[in-house]
Amino acid sequence: MTELQPFNPIQKSREVEKIVMQADNRMYYRFRFAKFYGGIATADTVGCNLLCAYCWNYFRNLKPSKTAPFYSPSEVTKKFKDLADKHKSSRFRISGAEPILGRVSTSHLAEVVKHIDGYFILETNGIMIGYDQTLVDILAPLPVYVRLCIKAHQGLDFEKITGAQANGLDYQLNAARYLEEAGISYSIAVMGGFVDPTKLPVRVTEVEDLILYKSTEKMLKERGF
Ligand code: SF4
Repeated sequence: MTELQPFNPIQKSREVEKIVMQADNRMYYRFRFAKFYGGIATADTVGCNLLCAYCWNYFRNLKPSKTAPFYSPSEVTKKFKDLADKHKSSRFRISGAEPILGRVSTSHLAEVVKHIDGYFILETNGIMIGYDQTLVDILAPLPVYVRLCIKAHQGLDFEKITGAQANGLDYQLNAARYLEEAGISYSIAVMGGFVDPTKLPVRVTEVEDLILYKSTEKMLKERGF
């Protein structure tokens, strides 16, 4: 088992945001139409403040490369629109990493969402929302539905799963509270087999199935699962 020194997820957010954002432009490596949510235009990005053992984009998030191009909000909107028109859909999301790494990435997201014609599903771990409640003010006026993915039901498991310090779980739970208080539509998802929903102080509405790629299996073993 690899001994991983837990990192500070807030500090990591700041560092990663500096890599994957250039002014108002964010790094994306792919735009695609995905089958999830009944079909959804998807922009795949890099850069996360956690490093989950089961992350399907683990290696890109381990070292967010500077080689992927940066896209302005209007360029992302255009890519979204082309995908949505082609597939007759009005659902959109950013995937592959964490969309909310701080104020700069949240503002980028807001600019994208303001100009799409449809419904944005914000998949987030909520760490920065729970750390900085003012980010909720940016999200509240937008047509977003938040899917908050909680990583553990107790701090030590959180460290093992995400590689980040245990207090990250407190930020995740804060995020649920802040979204609720702001009246933003949201749901809470957990990864089956890693979280006991009955031990969480929030209502879990979705238990996700783990897709066990070879590399995921190896990573989980290294973390002691
Ligand atoms: S929070 Fe999501 S994107 Fe970030 S490392 Fe975990 S699974 Fe990957």
